Amino acid sequence: MSWITVIWSMVASACLTLAVIYCLVWFRDRRAWANLFFALTAASTTALAFSELWMMRAETPVELFGAVTVGRVALFVWLVSITWFVRFHLGAGRLWLAWTIAGLRAFALLGLVLMWQDVSGRALTSLPHVQFLGESVTVLGSVPNPLAPVAQFSTFLILLFVTDASVTAWRRGDRRRALMIEGSVAFFLVAGLGLAMATRWAGIQLPGTFSLFALGLVAVIGYELSRDVLRASTLVHELQVSEAGLRETEARMSLAVDAADFGISIWDLKRNEIWASEKWRELFAFAPSERLEFSAILQRLHPEDREGLLQAHAMAIAGSNGGRYQTEHRLLLPGGAIRWISCVGRIEVDATGEPVLMRDASREITALKQAEQEAQVLQREIAHAWRVSMMGQLASGLVHEINQPLAAILRNAEAAEMYLQHPSPDLDEIRAILADIRSDDERAGQVIDRMRGLLKRRALDTRRLDVGSLVGDVAALVRVDAAARQVKLNVDVPDDLPHVRGDRVHIQQVLLNLVLNGMDALNGARLEDRGVNVTARIDVASGAPIVEIGVDDAGPGIPGGTLVQIFDPFFTTKPNGMGMGLAISRTIVESHGGRLWAENKVGGGAVFRFTLPIAEDAASV
Ligand code: ADP
Repeated sequence: MSWITVIWSMVASACLTLAVIYCLVWFRDRRAWANLFFALTAASTTALAFSELWMMRAETPVELFGAVTVGRVALFVWLVSITWFVRFHLGAGRLWLAWTIAGLRAFALLGLVLMWQDVSGRALTSLPHVQFLGESVTVLGSVPNPLAPVAQFSTFLILLFVTDASVTAWRRGDRRRALMIEGSVAFFLVAGLGLAMATRWAGIQLPGTFSLFALGLVAVIGYELSRDVLRASTLVHELQVSEAGLRETEARMSLAVDAADFGISIWDLKRNEIWASEKWRELFAFAPSERLEFSAILQRLHPEDREGLLQAHAMAIAGSNGGRYQTEHRLLLPGGAIRWISCVGRIEVDATGEPVLMRDASREITALKQAEQEAQVLQREIAHAWRVSMMGQLASGLVHEINQPLAAILRNAEAAEMYLQHPSPDLDEIRAILADIRSDDERAGQVIDRMRGLLKRRALDTRRLDVGSLVGDVAALVRVDAAARQVKLNVDVPDDLPHVRGDRVHIQQVLLNLVLNGMDALNGARLEDRGVNVTARIDVASGAPIVEIGVDDAGPGIPGGTLVQIFDPFFTTKPNGMGMGLAISRTIVESHGGRLWAENKVGGGAVFRFTLPIAEDAASV
């Protein structure tokens, strides 16, 4: 049995197997260029082994030359493919250097022509033979090749290229790979080609053995690539696990979205395409397969709410509030029905900060809105009932206010009758009496009007209000009551105070409640202390200017610890109190965008203050 045949055949078949495997790998994934070049390296090693075996068995110069030609071409492919393998595997290395190496190696192939001239001239007998592994084998002998320095220089460039690529990979943090490739290429290349050159220089005749070293490198790289395959399979497993996790999260999310009754929509702003979940389409009354256009969605909105949604979108796109928005809007459904929608949305931007996606989650809140409206109606009714009860407190004073002009009217009517019984009645006197009757009637009418206004049940009607006339009306209503209780009502409202925005009747109700509470607090106070003061001023300290109205008294003040509690419904310290006045007053003030609070004065007594927004437009009342 020939050892040479066994060893070289084994090298050739092992490399061929690897070449086929990695060629198939590349075929499955065309982007895996490193695999293709490795397959070429392995295939060219097979060719090298074959050429070396053929060379050792060559019996004619032509046969020898054929083997050398196959060997040189295989070496060319081997060196070029190893260069490009390193380039793709490490993702580093200078391209111009790789092309230079390929060019130089191709040029060095021209040496074959010279060799042919030399070999073809030899006689059959001149083929040198040496003893190798117990057999006599043919060797090439010394062949002049002026292109040998080019080939050697290109080998040096390969080492340079691989070192440079390894340094880049090392710096990038890919240290293990860098070391492995640099170490193995340097070792096998230097050892394989070095041995060939050294024996030639030393005049030792040896057959070609480079394929054995090439096999060493192929084995190391094969091992390295198999690690990658192993890593890829681990990654696939991890991916499967994380995919399963993702599916689970998705399932949970969709469960949560379903449970919360949310409809989801995603608007690709770049492509202007809108995707929406089934629930969203149901909410906005779009058919499942209907193409969604933003203009059509906007048409679904109640005309009064369209501008609001557009503004919210514009602000989110401009980046305010972190690209998030929240709106409540009405939908005008095809049948004419109204559906309230609450929507939260978010803008997503790309790497350059440009908005690319708009996601929104919408939910129906019609029932909630109805309940809110019902609560508002209920609140108004409670406030009305309270007003009526307050008017009850003032009733005796108001009856007196009306009685006075009525009695005057009666007296004047009687006087006029008497004048008319005279044969030549004094018409001027009668005219004066009639004028008095008219003015008394108007006085009574005004009192009735004020009462009627407060007793009417009506919806909130905010307008531009003059604080002076508002306070004046309240003062007129409580005048008689105050006089009966010996309480002096002092009003101090500057003439130039800006108008406020509010509902006249409701604000009067608040003032009336505070003034009556102030008068209650003075029960038992000394005569000189019996005064309730109503003041008003403009407050510019807290941002946007507002009007602050204060009602204070010189009573005992509010017991310590109850400054907050007194605003709770049903909190009262009065034997016949209901404890609803302050709670209702606070609701009214807050529904106007203001604030109501209480303080104790330094010298004794309590002060209640409330704020109202300054009016910008609307007709004066
Ligand atoms: P009511 O007048 O029916 O008690 P309110 O809600 O108007 O209901 O007032 C709640 C409580 O706040 C009063 O019972 C009283 O204890 C306290 N309070 C209100 N105004 C004053 C005030 N000017 N001075 C002292 N305590 C006051």
